[in-house]
Amino acid sequence: MAIKQYDTEAQLHALRNEIRKHDYAYYVKDAPLVSDAQYDGLMRQLQEIEAAHPELVTPDSPTQRVGGAALPAFDSVRHAVPMLSLGNAFEEGDIAAFDKRVTDGLRDTAFLDLAGTVEYNCELKLDGLAISMRYENGLLVSAATRGDGQTGENVTANIRTIASVPLRLQGDSYPGVLEVRGEVLMDRQQFQKLNQQQSARGDKVFVNPRNAAAGSLRQLDPRITAKRPLRFFAYGWGEISTEYANLPLTHSGMLEWFNQLGFPLVRERKVVQGAASLLEFYKHVSEIRTNLPYDIDGVVYKVNLLEAQRALGFVSRAPRFAIAHKFPAEESSTRLLGIEVQVGRTGALTPVARLQPVFVGGVTVTNATLHNEDEIRRKDVRIGDTVIVRRAGDVIPEVVRPLPELRPPDAQAFVMVTACPVCHSAIERLPDEAVSRCTGGLFCEAQRKQSFLHAASRKALDIEGLGEKVIDQLVEQGWVHSLADLYRLSVEKLMGLERFGRKSAENLVNAIEKSKQVELARLIYALGIRHVGETTARDLASHFGSMAALMQANEESLLAVPDVGPVVAGSIIRFFAEQHNKDVIADLQAVGLRPKVSEQPKSTALAGKTFVLTGTLPNWTRDEAAAFIMEAGGKVTGSVSKKTGYVVAGEDAGSKLEKARELGVTVIDEGQLKALLAQED
Ligand code: NAD
Repeated sequence: MAIKQYDTEAQLHALRNEIRKHDYAYYVKDAPLVSDAQYDGLMRQLQEIEAAHPELVTPDSPTQRVGGAALPAFDSVRHAVPMLSLGNAFEEGDIAAFDKRVTDGLRDTAFLDLAGTVEYNCELKLDGLAISMRYENGLLVSAATRGDGQTGENVTANIRTIASVPLRLQGDSYPGVLEVRGEVLMDRQQFQKLNQQQSARGDKVFVNPRNAAAGSLRQLDPRITAKRPLRFFAYGWGEISTEYANLPLTHSGMLEWFNQLGFPLVRERKVVQGAASLLEFYKHVSEIRTNLPYDIDGVVYKVNLLEAQRALGFVSRAPRFAIAHKFPAEESSTRLLGIEVQVGRTGALTPVARLQPVFVGGVTVTNATLHNEDEIRRKDVRIGDTVIVRRAGDVIPEVVRPLPELRPPDAQAFVMVTACPVCHSAIERLPDEAVSRCTGGLFCEAQRKQSFLHAASRKALDIEGLGEKVIDQLVEQGWVHSLADLYRLSVEKLMGLERFGRKSAENLVNAIEKSKQVELARLIYALGIRHVGETTARDLASHFGSMAALMQANEESLLAVPDVGPVVAGSIIRFFAEQHNKDVIADLQAVGLRPKVSEQPKSTALAGKTFVLTGTLPNWTRDEAAAFIMEAGGKVTGSVSKKTGYVVAGEDAGSKLEKARELGVTVIDEGQLKALLAQED
């Protein structure tokens, strides 16, 4: 028994030291050594052991205190009201348990409604760093980081450089002392720009937007902070003079009041009743998460009534009245077992990491992209390394960086192949390109498979049932070489495919047959001409009206098409100069493909107008809005220029909205877009 106790103590000691090491790297150095998921794993392990041995819990255990520490280079500020952390939940069951704890805690009070449910304010869990700002008689007098929760760093001069922080409260009624708390963060796009600048200058690049925000704010020279694109959002408060009579009674009311005083709020927030609505909010935010310009790592639920918050109080490091419902970690670490080179549709060779399976972003990942040779070299990723893998939303998982501290002595550098791994053709790499390409063209089986996959996709010929597995077999059997071969496939032949009965073969033949009536724009897109995306294909179709006219176009006539520049024009001309491409088109005609030219919409307001969509729209996804615009004759592009007709801005629109304002482009919201669409007949 005694020995067991000793073991547990030793284990606790080792775990606590390990966590303290990571806390220091993360909070003080802004340079974490492990992924958040790994850190959370260590913390959970510690919590479980401590729960089983409450007698071994020490006041200095990481479970009992807030993580950071103030850097000695800054003056320290003692928080009048401690800045705490938040309890964490990952599973639906944890949320039900939280709601039950809260409901039980409020059972004998008047803070439950008649049905016995609790009102919550749901918010985003912003992934930046917490700041407390103190206003005395309406003026910003100091600002501090969270530090260890009791004492933070004085970053007043740096906070003053953030444009969205009011130096003076708006209006003329406010408490003598007001401490407003919230998060300082950096938009993802700005983070990437900053890292490009840093790396061009040979300076340290930041691991993620959170670390970039923390590193930018905790600068000894505020002139550096001033150059960094930081934003602030309010979500809480510290000390408030008690004599102030007009204090709101709810958390949501407080936030609205802060907004009137001049503080930015995240618009995505909601007051709801009961646990089921909390999960709905979580689901909604998971869906719009990738559209937000900044990173969030979950949502936060807070009991809305302030008196109920007070009644519930705090545990050691977090309030009882709030909980963070975290998303599955988007980053985790695992071992890089090998690097394989994959061939894409245009012959581009992509090094793909083979990984020890790792659970990240809610799924098990075994492969991740390494982008290209230069990226591997820049990041110094070696086979055998432990690497951080990121999977955000539906984006292809990528290797973010290696952890050189954990590198085994036999780790190997990557060497790019000298011939195509599939067709053995030569590899070429143009001087101004980062990508190496297989020169095999459609001779290369890999390129052929990818070309068919592209041609069959939803935005091209939209052939239902013609997916990767079927295409792999069709190409491997040698049944399809050029696009027109698809139209020669018979039901009998297709019945020879793996797991294909008569019914599925007939369905596929019918789907292929149906695609003979495809719109010209989709057919142009399906051809896979380099630089010709969906929008350009539409422009070309409506400008030239037929495939024959497009094939004969010279540079001058191509340049007359809106948004077609010399690069796109050159690519189109080169494509149609190739005899085998001309043969494909003739063959498609021979098998009966009759592309339709969609009628020019009889639109008035939208014809020829270019739209840029940014931010989260209240009802439509950006894809839906784009489809409506294009249907009505408008165009949708990705970047704002003087030629842009309208920028449709939703919630949390970022740099595109700023650019629109700079250039004087008309900015409209979803409602105004609907009104424009309604003008069409
Ligand atoms: P936390 O990040 O889980 O939650 C508390 C923080 O959430 C607050 O301080 C505040 O900054 C922030 N927040 C964002 N939106 C908020 C809102 N609407 N309302 C209230 N607060 C909001 O806790 P923590 O103690 O800051 O950090 C712990 C987490 O940090 C860990 O779970 C881990 O993911 C990460 N971490 C990682 C490492 C590492 O080495 N990778 C080390 C330490 C900590």
